[in-house]
Amino acid sequence: MNTAYISHPECLKHDMGHAHPESPARLRAIEDRLHAAHLYDYLVHYDAPLAHRSQLLRVHDAAYIDAVEAASPHEGMVELDPDTSMNSHSLAAAYRAAGGAVMAVDRVMRGEVGNAFVACRPPGHHATRNRAMGFCIFNNVAVAAAHALAAHGLSRVAIVDFDVHHGNGTENIFKDDARMMLCSTFQHPFYPYCGADSSSPHIVNVPLPAGTTGKRYREVFAAEVMPRLEAFQPEMLFFSAGFDGHRDDDMGQFGLVEADYVWITEQVIGVAARHAQGRIVSVLEGGYDLSSLGRSVAAHIKVLAEL
Ligand SMILES: [Zn+2]
Repeated sequence: MNTAYISHPECLKHDMGHAHPESPARLRAIEDRLHAAHLYDYLVHYDAPLAHRSQLLRVHDAAYIDAVEAASPHEGMVELDPDTSMNSHSLAAAYRAAGGAVMAVDRVMRGEVGNAFVACRPPGHHATRNRAMGFCIFNNVAVAAAHALAAHGLSRVAIVDFDVHHGNGTENIFKDDARMMLCSTFQHPFYPYCGADSSSPHIVNVPLPAGTTGKRYREVFAAEVMPRLEAFQPEMLFFSAGFDGHRDDDMGQFGLVEADYVWITEQVIGVAARHAQGRIVSVLEGGYDLSSLGRSVAAHIKVLAEL
């Protein structure tokens, strides 16, 4: 089965300023590396459509969506939060990023592709029900997971968030929904300074100290995440795929390398094979060191595509 690669040129036009680490160059670095690794032509490419408002409303308040639309500038930049701005293309990019994740679910659920990687931006996992934060506007992976439940009739889906930052927005959105399991590994204490005291039985938060090595990460993932995923028996799996825990990425202080992302991907593929007919949608989150981001995404996709 093929792997879908879903992106859109408008996602390159969302630009928060030349010094901002969440930059259009991230998507270019990923595509460049996919070409260099001879992976690009083996993927099935789709343009991300705009999400429908009804799809966003499953996870965001109407008043929040209205506020984002009203904030969208015709020129210049508008701040939604100290880290997150909009230019005249950002609204379209945000709708594409969420719409691309929805499309990934539809293609995988219909069996048109085996799994999918959504290479859109802005990222999403910090966006809560009613707040943009941490470079995120709409919570793309949450929109996709909610779509799998609502439009495809699934009753259990799981999100594995391996970004170096806690997936606080995803937890905020799904904390009272037992159909959703969120497993988030993250550096702690660290931005966004929460997640270590969660009480929901279906939210598996795994705070780890700065300096966590790949070896230690794998031990903890095997001991704390894998048994919970297996017991939950998800019918579809999602990655909140953030690569800012890479050793070369100074946004965080983890020591992960490409081989660790390969290992994580293999573990989750195993769960998907046992419980979910192999159904996986991976949604890009962080990763700001361009070289290691490109290499890591290529390594992740190579495993997903069995290439
Ligand atoms: Zn991050």
